[in-house]
Amino acid sequence: MTYASVIVDVPAKQTDRAFDYEIPEKWDGFIQPGMRVVVPFGPRQIQGFVIGLKETTSVKKTRPISSLIDISPILTTELLQLAEWLRDHTLCFTISAFQAMLPAALKAKYEKWILVKDRSKLPPHLELFFDSSNRARFEDFEGTGHYRLIKQLIDDEVLEVYYEVKDKLSKKTVKVIVLTASKEELKEAKNKVSTRAQSQHRLMDFFMETGQKKIEKKQLLEDLQIGTSAVGALVKLGILQEVDDERYRDPYANREFAKSEPLALTSQQQQAISPILSSIESGLHEGYVMFGVTGSGKTEVYMQAVDAVLKKGKEAIVLVPEISLTPQMVNRFKSRFGSDVAVMHSGLGMGEKYDEWRKIHRKEVKVVVGARSAIFAPFENVGIIIIDEEHETSYKQEDTPRYHARDIAMERGRFHQCPVVLGSATPTLETFARASKGVYQLLTMDKRMSDQGMPTVEIVDMREELREGNRSMFSRDLLEKLQIRLERGEQSVLFLNKRGYSSFVMCRDCGYVVECPHCDISLTYHRINNQLKCHYCGYEEQVHSTCPSCDSDHFRFFGTGTQKVEEELTKLLPSARVIRMDVDTTSRKGSHEKLLQQFGDRKADILLGTQMIAKGLDFPQVTLVGVLTADTMLNIPDFRSSEKTFQLLTQVSGRAGRHLLPGEVVIQTYSPEHYSVELASTHDYIGFYQKEMLLRKNHQYPPFYYLALVTVTHEELTKVVTVTERITSYLGGQLSREAVILGPVSSPIARIKDRYRYQCIIKYKREPNLHHALKSVVEKYQSQMDQEKLAIHIDLNPYMLM
Ligand code: ADP
Ligand code: ZN
Ligand code: ZN
Repeated sequence: MTYASVIVDVPAKQTDRAFDYEIPEKWDGFIQPGMRVVVPFGPRQIQGFVIGLKETTSVKKTRPISSLIDISPILTTELLQLAEWLRDHTLCFTISAFQAMLPAALKAKYEKWILVKDRSKLPPHLELFFDSSNRARFEDFEGTGHYRLIKQLIDDEVLEVYYEVKDKLSKKTVKVIVLTASKEELKEAKNKVSTRAQSQHRLMDFFMETGQKKIEKKQLLEDLQIGTSAVGALVKLGILQEVDDERYRDPYANREFAKSEPLALTSQQQQAISPILSSIESGLHEGYVMFGVTGSGKTEVYMQAVDAVLKKGKEAIVLVPEISLTPQMVNRFKSRFGSDVAVMHSGLGMGEKYDEWRKIHRKEVKVVVGARSAIFAPFENVGIIIIDEEHETSYKQEDTPRYHARDIAMERGRFHQCPVVLGSATPTLETFARASKGVYQLLTMDKRMSDQGMPTVEIVDMREELREGNRSMFSRDLLEKLQIRLERGEQSVLFLNKRGYSSFVMCRDCGYVVECPHCDISLTYHRINNQLKCHYCGYEEQVHSTCPSCDSDHFRFFGTGTQKVEEELTKLLPSARVIRMDVDTTSRKGSHEKLLQQFGDRKADILLGTQMIAKGLDFPQVTLVGVLTADTMLNIPDFRSSEKTFQLLTQVSGRAGRHLLPGEVVIQTYSPEHYSVELASTHDYIGFYQKEMLLRKNHQYPPFYYLALVTVTHEELTKVVTVTERITSYLGGQLSREAVILGPVSSPIARIKDRYRYQCIIKYKREPNLHHALKSVVEKYQSQMDQEKLAIHIDLNPYMLM
């Protein structure tokens, strides 16, 4: 007898281990690790992943596997191992690690059925619910008032509940008509079929004349102007056959990508690529930091490195931050590598994502360009992993498993013995510090491709503007520069950092701020429907005309939302054509790309937008970039706020003057003397790095210390406080004196969706006992978490401290 070790689809402490199942003889030699199966688990049938096979088991009574979901493994042995690594390093359940590696479409859905075990005892009035195979859907009993009776019958073993596992999504197929008859048979049939059946004759003529053997049904009916019954008749005669043909939903199917050839590299690019090429050649793992200013030609280097990898017959993984935001990047890879590229990003539908994943799984592509989760691409012969804009926080998953794509990349790079390249103009302090220590090899590209060099940056002190009577959100300088661009027919980009507390509503008399009744956060004003909206839970309410607290009329919204900026802009510069890009104008699929296309086609003079326009855009005619509010990021309660501000300002400035025309940048701010603003204006990353490292050292933050964040949430405040207190003091007893435990304190956002949030932060250098201690915390509260909806989240190396 062969047994399969199976991880079942129940994310819980007690089930976070392999269970042994018998492999029925018919599947012996067929079932392999990495396949999904359906197994009995207690009274249920659930999905499980086979992680290993064995000849003996120590379990006394084993049950057989019920059915197979996959006919070939969907997880490679490498990924099965990587799941264990994820479990140990992010403290998640193995099953959650598996789920994170697969497209959502492969997550199991369960259908609940009621099965009749003894039809003779079934009450007559229930008969009609059950079909001839004695089954009924559980939900069919909804609203019938029979639930209690059903439960009784289950206890009496007349009925039985079972769950059927379904894939959420099937493959997409189209109906295809296939000619099954030979030429002679066709001729024969034509003589037999009545001449009045014109459609059938037209069909047969089509196949005789064209010699085609297979055609899509829809197209056939359209081309010949016939109905589906004619096809049916010929199918009955055995001349044609109707089959389902599998199709990929290719989001880029109708687009043409002009083939691009590798460019001759500059000497700077050559210096950067050469160590990477020798790593590829020698097949050794090495981490590289490609520290290159915006527009220094990093992408061209990535593509030529990928090319070298493909020539060795290996595969490449390229991560870009939320790729739907940078269609230009996709275009560049598609143009260079054509149909060898799969693209995976959150802008795709579930089916499209699944299809892209399947291209990788079937080895039909050799390159994947994708957002965070593409790091789990099931390639088996990886030759390079590239992470572009490695400082982007979207590489950290904020949900279990709370992994960082960079760590996974290094782990996979070690397994495949291939180079891992981290590219950025503003590397994270963690990454740059490792490069300084020699853990990663540093590749510097400090010159821009264009002769223009870096754009000149001017800082405007908005307090000064106010003092001189300018109440507008545009400084006089920025306005003047916008005007000049209009006259010259050049383009401008205006950037508004909207995250934070930008467009909240406040009473000018009493200071009352409208907050969400479910979350401790102010509501954001939306002009379109004159509503206030919570960005955490979606709560909405109408705007009040007077202050609910003091009845004052001086009740208005503050800060600058993109809509408000657009309004003021059209007032100040009536002739300007403006494209606004924010969550409201880009919520529809494809609209993001369309707007960028319009701007690229010079159908607008000014592109106004939030975060989403900061990255990767490359338009030759943009000669002015304006940052309306540089400070919003600075004021968030996060030790990385300066770093984030510096990165953002540098990225935004990088959008100007990337080609023949020189670029100018205007940064408006209320804190012009802040080092992150000042050093961004002089493009001084190294200066910023040194200054920030000193502060981090003094305050014991990463990269000098590691962080762990424990967040406790519950509907009752007292519960949250006591649990967090207990956890904090428990950890205090378990850890060394070197560890610093901050808290318990309320999280910066103290309540979300009616749940209170408390946290403690652990700062440490070396704590061999930490993982174990955190695990036992979760174990200790397991029953409360199951029964009382208490939640404890553990985030090792957190990026969001809110
Ligand atoms: P980065 O990714 O560092 O921001 P890009 O790769 O976008 O920089 O390069 C900036 C511009 O320079 C792009 O328009 C690109 O096509 C061009 N470019 C890059 N490398 C070369 C080269 N070797 N020769 C000519 N043009 C190049
Ligand atoms: Zn008031
Ligand atoms: Zn809310």
